[in-house]
Amino acid sequence: RQKLYQELRDKPSVTKDGVPVDLLLNAGLSVDLPHLADSGAAGIGLFRTELQFMVASAFPRAEAQEKLYRDVVEAARGKPVTFRTIDIGGDKVLPYFKDAVQEENPALGWRAIRLTLDRSGLLRTQVRALLKACGGRELKLMLPMVTELSEIAQAREIIDKEVRHLSRFAHHLPTSLKVGAMLEVPSLLFQLDELMKAVDFVSVGSNDLFQFVMAVDRGNTRLADRFDPLSVPFLRVLRTVAAAGARNNTPVTLCGELAGKPISAMALLGLGFRSISMSPASIGPVKAMLTELPLAELTALFDDNLDQPATGVPMRALLQAFADDR
Ligand code: PEP
Ligand code: MG
Repeated sequence: RQKLYQELRDKPSVTKDGVPVDLLLNAGLSVDLPHLADSGAAGIGLFRTELQFMVASAFPRAEAQEKLYRDVVEAARGKPVTFRTIDIGGDKVLPYFKDAVQEENPALGWRAIRLTLDRSGLLRTQVRALLKACGGRELKLMLPMVTELSEIAQAREIIDKEVRHLSRFAHHLPTSLKVGAMLEVPSLLFQLDELMKAVDFVSVGSNDLFQFVMAVDRGNTRLADRFDPLSVPFLRVLRTVAAAGARNNTPVTLCGELAGKPISAMALLGLGFRSISMSPASIGPVKAMLTELPLAELTALFDDNLDQPATGVPMRALLQAFADDR
C-alpha cells in the first residue's frame, strides 16, 4: 500500500472520470511541514496557528509568530496555505491565559473568533505577523467559529487597519489577501448566500459542525459511534453548503476529520466538494480512492437517494456497497 501511495504522489489528483480535486493538508507546527512534499498535497488547507500557542509557556511573541509563518510559506514553495487565526478556548486551554474562566459549556463558550474579537490585541498581533510573513505572496486568512456575519466584518476592520498600518511604513505586503470563514456553527446554514458573499472562501469544520448539528460532544467516547456523519441529515447539510458555494462562485473546502477517511471523502465528492483538507497520512488512501472513483455515478446515487432515502437502508451502507462494487 505504501508503495502504491508513493506512486500516486506525483500523479494528477483527478477522479476516474477526469474531475480534478484538490487534496490539501492539515498542519499546525513546523514538524508537519515536510509532509507537504512527501504527501504530494496541493497545499495546506488548514494551518492551526493555535498549536504554537498551546506548546508555549507564555504567549508567543510577534517575532516568533512571524518566524513560524515565514517557515510555513517557505516550505510550501508557492503552494497555497490557509492560516486559521487562533482557535483557543473551548477544549484548547492556554494555562498562561489569565483572562480565561471556567465555563460550564466550553464548546459553546468564549473561544476562537469570539475571544479574539474581545481581546483584539491578540488578533492584531497575529494578523500583523501574517501580513509580514506573507509579503510578496498570497495570504489566506481563515476565521474560526464564526456565528454571525458581523464577526467577519469586525475581523475585516482589524485586518484592514493592520494593512493600512504596514503600508504606511512601506512594508512589503501580500500580493493578495483573502479572508475566509470556517463553517462550524449551524447559524450560518441559515444565511448561506449572505455568508458566501461576505467572504473569499469557506471551509467546513466538520468536527465542530457535526457536534453542533447533532448536539453531540465531539470528545465523548460513549457517544462516539452513536450518530453517523454519513447519515441523511448531515449529508444534506453538506450538500446544501457545497451548492451554496457553487451558486455564489465562492470556493468551499472541508477540513474536518471526515475528509481523511476514504469512504467519507468519497461522499464529500459526491455531494459537490472539489477541495478537501486532511492529515498527512490520509492523502495516500484518499487519492487511491479518488483515482478509482466514477464521480458521475456517485452524484447520481445521491440524486436518487438523498431526498428520498430507500427505507431502512442507511446511506453509509449504500455508499459502502457503491465503493465495494467499484
Ligand atoms: C473542525 O472543527 O472540523 C476543525 C477542522 O477544527 P478543529 O478540529 O481544530 O476544531
Ligand atoms: Mg473546529
